[in-house]
Amino acid sequence: MLPRINPLRLLLLGAPGSGKGTQTKKLKKLLPNILAISSGDLLREQVTKRTKLGKEVLQYIERGELVPDGLISRFVTAQLLKTKSESAQEQVQWLLDGFPRNLDQARSFQNTLRVLNMPLSNVIELKVPKSRILERLASRYIHEASGRTYNLSYNPPKTPGVDDLTGDPLVKRVDDSQVGVITRRLDDYDKFITPLRNYYNELGILSTVSGDTSDEIFPQILQVLNLNAAPAST
Ligand code: ATP
Ligand code: MG
Repeated sequence: MLPRINPLRLLLLGAPGSGKGTQTKKLKKLLPNILAISSGDLLREQVTKRTKLGKEVLQYIERGELVPDGLISRFVTAQLLKTKSESAQEQVQWLLDGFPRNLDQARSFQNTLRVLNMPLSNVIELKVPKSRILERLASRYIHEASGRTYNLSYNPPKTPGVDDLTGDPLVKRVDDSQVGVITRRLDDYDKFITPLRNYYNELGILSTVSGDTSDEIFPQILQVLNLNAAPAST
């Protein structure tokens, strides 16, 4: 087990549908102040808001392709630096899901973090059987405006087909609707994960957790991070 280094700056790796978003939600309950950044969620928000960036990235997302490295690197780094002062930035704990996604992104991000004096503390790879992943992607629906995610099997909405909070209709993600697009995302993940895994393994910050369900995986993450399951007092 790796020692917990403060502040916690965690990167979650895992295939599409491996539950990075679910684990992030669970960790946020324990660490309410942690800054959670999901590159995919942020890009989808830009698409929904029809911003210039959103229009630029939609074509990639629709096809299940990665957006250009420079674009996503600048965007995520800007999100990390939203914390007010530099001294506050050095203390801030964060959790990234979906970035870095390939070796080039990882190397350039590592340089950025060195300059900012914000080293990563942990990288955790989630391993879930592919049959599970395919089931999950098929039964995943979202509320487009907020990004809230549902799964018809294990996290269904209270009323079928509509968001619990707003009553808006739920939709499939544009990249979860076609088999060809799903296959491309999964194949890309397989292609990029080995160099990424080796890179973080050599840095001595990689741990791997595995299981069929998010409930099986979460305690393993807590163990890696040396955290207790009791929520932090606020
Ligand atoms: P999940 O389905 O579990 O959310 P995912 O990896 O398929 O995982 P997202 O992380 O939400 O999906 O990413 C959706 C899309 O956003 C990607 O297919 C890609 O077009 C773009 N994207 C997100 N992060 C990156 C990144 N680091 N580099 C390049 N493109 C990215
Ligand atoms: Mg996600």
